[in-house]
Order: sequence, then C-alpha cells, then structure tokens
Amino acid sequence: MGRSIGIRMALAAACLVCAAAPPAPCPCPSACPAPCPCPKTRAAVPGGVFVLSGPSGAGKSSLARRLVGQVPGLAFAVSHTTRPPRPGERDGVDYFFVDRAAFDAIRARDGFLECVETYGHRYGLSRKWLRQRLAAGEDVIMDLDTTGARAVRKAMPGAVTALVLPPSAQELGRRLSSRGTESPAQLAQRLGQARRELARYPEYDYLVVNDELDRAAREVEAVILAARARQERRRATARRILETFR
Ligand code: ADP
Ligand code: 5GP
Repeated sequence: MGRSIGIRMALAAACLVCAAAPPAPCPCPSACPAPCPCPKTRAAVPGGVFVLSGPSGAGKSSLARRLVGQVPGLAFAVSHTTRPPRPGERDGVDYFFVDRAAFDAIRARDGFLECVETYGHRYGLSRKWLRQRLAAGEDVIMDLDTTGARAVRKAMPGAVTALVLPPSAQELGRRLSSRGTESPAQLAQRLGQARRELARYPEYDYLVVNDELDRAAREVEAVILAARARQERRRATARRILETFR
C-alpha cells in the first residue's frame, strides 16, 4: 500500500475538498449531514463520493469504467500520476500523466485531496477536479489504494467505500500477469502488497468479490443506487414534494 505524501489531508479539521478553514456549524434547519461540514463544500457537494479500493489487479479500474458507462451521473475520478501511461491509456481519461516536477508543484500548493507514493510512482486526486465534478451535480467513483481510501474516509465521512477482492491469490496473479503491463519485478511487488491491503477489509462499508465482472459490477451499482436513495440525500426532494401538498 502507498505511503501517504499528502500531509495536510491528515488534518481532518480542514475541508478536504476545498481546503477551507475548519468547519462552522451547519446552518441548515434540519442539520443535514454532508460529506464535509464546511459550508463552502457543503454547497458544492450535491453528489456523492464512492471509493473502490483493493490490491492492484483486483479489477478496480475495470469495475469503475463499467459503472461509469452504466450508471447515469457517475464520473470516474481522474487522478494525477507520475507513472508512464500503459498502452491504451489516455491522458485526462485514465489519469492526468505528469512528471514529478508538475506533480510536486500541485502538491506544494496543497492541490491534492490526498496523495501517495506507491510502486515507485506518485498518485493524487486533485481537489479542483473533484470540486468541479461535485459542483456539476455528479457522483464520483474513485479508484484508490487502501491508504487513499483511509484518508478519504477520515476526511469525508459521507464517502461510501468498497474493497474489491480477487477470488484468490492465484487468480490475482493470473490477472496481473495477463494484463501484461508490469515487469516481473513490478508484478512481484504488486502481489506482495496484496495481502496487507486485503487485510484492511474491516475498514470498508462493502466487500465486493470480483469473481465475474458483470456480477461484481451489478453489486457495486446496487450500492451506488442505494446510497443515492438514502434519506439524507433525498431530503430536498421530500421537502419539494411536501410543498406540493400545501
Ligand atoms: P486494478 O484496476 O484493480 O489494478 P484492472 O481493472 O486493471 O485491476 O484488472 C486487472 C486485469 O484483470 C485486467 O487485465 C482486467 O481485464 C482483468 N479482470 C478484471 N476483472 C476481471 C474478472 N472479473 N475476471 C477476469 N479478468 C478480470
Ligand atoms: P496503477 O499504477 O495500477 O494504475 O495504480 C496503482 C495503485 O494506485 C492502485 O492501487 C490505484 O488504486 C492507486 N491509485 C490510483 N490513483 C490514486 C490516487 O489518486 N490516490 C491514491 N491513494 N491511490 C491511487
């Protein structure tokens, strides 16, 4: 799992999305719980945040991509990385591929929600990107390592987290090598971390076994749809409907 290099994210008092000052009491009469209690962010967070986490090769990005294609209003969180693109990966779609200097410049101005160094590369999700998507009313699905998931959970209690488990160590090894994107040494490093990442399963809201992609995607979709129907997220709708009964 990655070593966190986003120091400020540990300070839960500051808003993770907008990096604003510590939270003020919620002025809303119904004291609606929001992902972040900071008024600025609360206004900017009409959507929800979903985190898919788990070892490399478990199928997080395959699942996230499929879900974005089948769930309306769901955007894939495009992180920045210093890792070079794999064949077929597109800048701005899979990641924003940047060099170390560009990454560190964003980090220096506290532009990342959280960031980690793992497998010799840096990864971070831009606050600006997230703010824009949430302000546009979209839900966001993130593909993060377990360190990132922990950071997001701590700072955004409204985030829904799911750990993606491969059916077995053998199958994880097969999938990683069939992806063909890592050298034997890199593959061993990724497999070596898998056990420690999976051992964090008690921290997650949901555990999804990615045995069969369609089935696993339906399960995550059910989680997303159920979260959208939560009372806290439907209060405004309920009020609007109530108004029509006056
Ligand atoms: P991650 O994003 O967790 O690193 P990927 O989504 O890249 O994992 O998946 C790793 C490899 O396993 C890819 O080649 C992908 O096509 C394959 N894969 C993903 N899910 C399944 C599945 N349910 N069954 C078989 N292969 C899968
Ligand atoms: P990969 O190189 O296979 O695309 O990603 C390596 C690991 O980095 C994966 O576990 C992936 O979930 C994680 N990752 C990708 N983007 C981010 C990010 O912005 N933050 C964190 N914490 N992890 C990320």
